[in-house]
Amino acid sequence: MTAQKPISHFINGHENPGTGERTQPVYNPATGEISGHLRLANRDDLDTTVAAAKKAAESWSQTSLAKRTTVLFKFRELVSAHVDELAALITAEHGKVLSDAKGEIGRGIEVIEFACGIPQLLKGAYSDQASTGIDVFSFREPVGVVAGITPFNFPVMVPLWMCPIAIATGNAFILKPSERDPSAAILLATLWTKAGLPDGVFQVLHGDKETVTGLLTHPDVDAISFVGSTPIAQYVHETATAHGKRVQALGGAKNHAIILPDADLDNAADHLSAAAFGSAGERCMAISVAIAVGDAADSLVSKVQERALAIKVAEGTEPDADMGPVITRASKERIIRIVGEAAESGANLVVDGRDLVVTGKEDGFWVGPTVLDNVTTDMTAYTEEIFGPVLTVVRVETVEEAIELINSNPYGNGTAIFTSSGSNARKFQRGVHVGMIGINVPVPVPVAYHSFGGWKNSLFGDRNIYGEEGVAFYTRGKVVTSRWPEPAHASEASYAFPSNS
Ligand code: NAD
Repeated sequence: MTAQKPISHFINGHENPGTGERTQPVYNPATGEISGHLRLANRDDLDTTVAAAKKAAESWSQTSLAKRTTVLFKFRELVSAHVDELAALITAEHGKVLSDAKGEIGRGIEVIEFACGIPQLLKGAYSDQASTGIDVFSFREPVGVVAGITPFNFPVMVPLWMCPIAIATGNAFILKPSERDPSAAILLATLWTKAGLPDGVFQVLHGDKETVTGLLTHPDVDAISFVGSTPIAQYVHETATAHGKRVQALGGAKNHAIILPDADLDNAADHLSAAAFGSAGERCMAISVAIAVGDAADSLVSKVQERALAIKVAEGTEPDADMGPVITRASKERIIRIVGEAAESGANLVVDGRDLVVTGKEDGFWVGPTVLDNVTTDMTAYTEEIFGPVLTVVRVETVEEAIELINSNPYGNGTAIFTSSGSNARKFQRGVHVGMIGINVPVPVPVAYHSFGGWKNSLFGDRNIYGEEGVAFYTRGKVVTSRWPEPAHASEASYAFPSNS
């Protein structure tokens, strides 16, 4: 048995168990054992945290850009120095392999680096002599208190998509991490404090629907950044906007990759396999549907089959592991059910990971890589986001049919094409109704100085996350029109609407 640690909130500069009596177990998905007990916030904990954030935001928003940037540079240094420790926490509670955990931290560090450039990003604009004797300038101010509600699948990267930019722009930030893998958030909080961030500017509050709803409706929370599944994203968007808050709510996905017959099929199979089974398929940018066009299909399926069978599934701490377990026993059971339904409805189960056993870890939440061929759009394996190591293959005859299939899907997060034809790639990039597109790149997560966001049911709200869109989301614009009249002209007022001269 592993030791079961208590996991507290981080309120106003310190770890704090709060006054809530409810707790929830946290598991190691590789062993199925309980590794911790998470304190869930009650209303008093929520009010204490929001009050501390509101107070901290008042002074942090007045702190100079030079001082804010010093904290951000230091935070970047500290996160980089604690990659191993953060990755170990991720692997222990999420299950992904250590190299993958380090990869997500790396993508988070990119956003901190972007936020280190905040003085440049907040420079504003100045129009000298816009009208005679009148100057106009615009700049942006923080919104106040921001709450970030994040999913289990990237316990460090997704919080880092949000908090470096929210804090750099002068806000206080409350993180409500996933209750399934909450420990890395507490280490991030201690690193912010070590970096010199004042108490209350970054806090962590654990909880479930009750805490989330409390944040969405709290009068002193000004903006909500949410990342998670589509039904919850929709609930978050509707509830928080109804309470007058600014909201960006990123939802689920069903990412398709088109493979054309002119593609290098070995390269495509390598990348498809990595994009479908990496992190046990629990990435919002995972490829879960391969659209095999024309005579690419038979060869592609046999190449993907070969690769799927070669994947080493093991506890994420093993150095040669390619893939770990899925997040919960319920998730494992759901994935197995969906695969079974597809097989019963006529899909061809080319690789079946349902009965995978990992010796010595029999109680872990294991599902092996699974490949389903000849999937049709009425099967639950196609209509639902499976969020597991399952690649479904749909066969079509033309690139136009493939694009139409993508556009008929209610999600629009990411998509990719494998081809050696520039004209087909261009037809694809212009024709698909999707936010993030890869050309021979299967997981096209944009770099930090662009921005991340899907279309349709993959994003509710009108701002993407991070990049300049993040800066705009966490700030409000001010435009100042100023005149400093010479005493002789001081009373040139008119009852007509002011016009430029
Ligand atoms: P989830 O929606 O279950 O949980 C996300 C957050 O919402 C968690 O903090 C959770 O505590 C909270 N939550 C859960 N149920 C709630 C409820 N009923 N009311 C209020 N809050 C609730 O998502 P998950 O399972 O943790 O993460 C996986 C999902 O997130 C997948 O659908 C995946 O595609 C999506 N995701 C999307 C992106 C993106 O950028 N679009 C990125 C990562 C993950």
